[in-house]
Amino acid sequence: MVKGRPERRTISIHCAGCRTLLYRYNKGGTGALVKCFVERIVEDRTAGDLSCPSCAQVFARPGEIAGRPIHKIVNGKVFTRGMRRR
Ligand SMILES: [Zn+2]
Repeated sequence: MVKGRPERRTISIHCAGCRTLLYRYNKGGTGALVKCFVERIVEDRTAGDLSCPSCAQVFARPGEIAGRPIHKIVNGKVFTRGMRRR
């Protein structure tokens, strides 16, 4: 692995209630998903209202970090696929 090059992978973010795909997201690092930078969402399957299009569960809250809009994931409302342990 090239040093200094941030690791990026596309993960899938699903509703924890009904398993519907919500976002595909370009995640940096290996930590747990606690927030999404809106600019890194590769594919958005929701209506943009931070709730599941299938079961209407709210899975995130809007926020901001250093002027960049984020979605703060509500604990336990989503699960991810595509994360790899090393
Ligand atoms: Zn759902």
